[in-house]
Amino acid sequence: MACVVVVGSQWGDEGKGKVVDLLAERADIVARFQGGNNAGHTVVFSGQTYILHLIPSGIFHQGKLAVLGNGVVVDPEALIEEIDGLAKLGVEVGDNFKVSDEANLIMPYHKAMDRLRESLKGEGKIGTTGRGIGPAYEDKMARSGVRVSDLRRKDERAFCDRLKSIVEEKNVLMRSHFKSDAVFDVSEIFDRYAALYERIAPHLCDTSLLLNQAIDAGQSVLFEGAQGTLLDVDHGTYPFVTSSSTVAGGACTGCGVGPTKITGVLGIVKAYTTRVGEGPLPTELRDDPVGAILQERGQEIGATTGRVRRCGWFDAVVVRESARLNGMSGLAITKLDVLDSLETVKIAVAYRDPEGNEVASLPHHVGTLAELTPIYEELPGWQSSTRGLRDYGRLPAAAQAYLERIAELTGVPLVLVSTGPSREETIVLEELF
Ligand code: GDP
Repeated sequence: MACVVVVGSQWGDEGKGKVVDLLAERADIVARFQGGNNAGHTVVFSGQTYILHLIPSGIFHQGKLAVLGNGVVVDPEALIEEIDGLAKLGVEVGDNFKVSDEANLIMPYHKAMDRLRESLKGEGKIGTTGRGIGPAYEDKMARSGVRVSDLRRKDERAFCDRLKSIVEEKNVLMRSHFKSDAVFDVSEIFDRYAALYERIAPHLCDTSLLLNQAIDAGQSVLFEGAQGTLLDVDHGTYPFVTSSSTVAGGACTGCGVGPTKITGVLGIVKAYTTRVGEGPLPTELRDDPVGAILQERGQEIGATTGRVRRCGWFDAVVVRESARLNGMSGLAITKLDVLDSLETVKIAVAYRDPEGNEVASLPHHVGTLAELTPIYEELPGWQSSTRGLRDYGRLPAAAQAYLERIAELTGVPLVLVSTGPSREETIVLEELF
């Protein structure tokens, strides 16, 4: 039995989708524990590309169960769209998909406020996807959230009363703060969401109970993280973060599974660094030909937003921090092939502050981080194709040296190397399930 949490170790988009999809073959259940439809996992197999925003990629595997845990925020419209989209592709979404009845819903006012707030911020914008995820988490914490189970017909009256007071407050905010003419109507929202509920209802259950029973029965679970460690609401580069716990601990709260059940934490790491949206990125290669190569070869464009990702060298300080925060037991390095053409490759091993002092760990204040310059170690490039290689021994010696240096600097053993977007293009060094 294995219960492995898979997390992004940088700022997201590390290629978790591919690795989770690959490992899903070996697990019985794949469960998401945080985030909403702001994730964008790209999965490529049999020549087809699928982009999932909400449903765990375990859905592509026969006989596996895909779960959305209580820590996820669900936009029911987006969920149904994704279910229908998968059905069109011939991917069945039935008993193989469960949603926690404790998950909070993204409501129409969350989406409206997300967009209005971001546009009001101008220069200081966070770079959110505008899908209402942040405001939905705010309401969850403020105890003004709506849970999926609130939409059950038998609780209609009590729920409508509660929704009424929530919506009244939102309408005041819309008018006075956001200067918007949009007015939300309780019965309109209720009718719309009640219809959506009917579609989701067959998938609802107590997913904590389900997961714990499965674990007790010896089944293996893969907990799929979205976004990345440096976007964690507590430990990330605040305020340029997402609104949930992206670190491995989030799998416990976001799925109702105790920490003693977790057997391993796999950190997904891109062979270089990218970041979408605002916030500091110490190793960024802005206006630099190498940055352009990484962007182009790595096709660094957001799957959810279509935004171009900022690119930079591998930052060992970031991944070391990430290893500690997640208690990482293994590293999966992706997109090695993107570096194939480079003459040399650099790794940030520490930073230097404006006074010239060396800084070995990641500062927790975003302003301090923005002032640091990376100290690089330069390694020879391999200038030959690693694309599609499946055997570690066939990697060029310089590529092996690069990977091993990353493992050494981060203190986490290497368990998987990805050499291309498709499932087959992978070197597996250690089986996790
Ligand atoms: P995620 O959100 O962490 O799953 O990351 P994304 O799916 O947004 O981004 C990963 C992108 O890189 C996708 O387009 C993948 O198909 C692609 N990808 C994943 N692994 C590799 C790899 O090893 N090499 C290359 N060239 N592309 C990869």
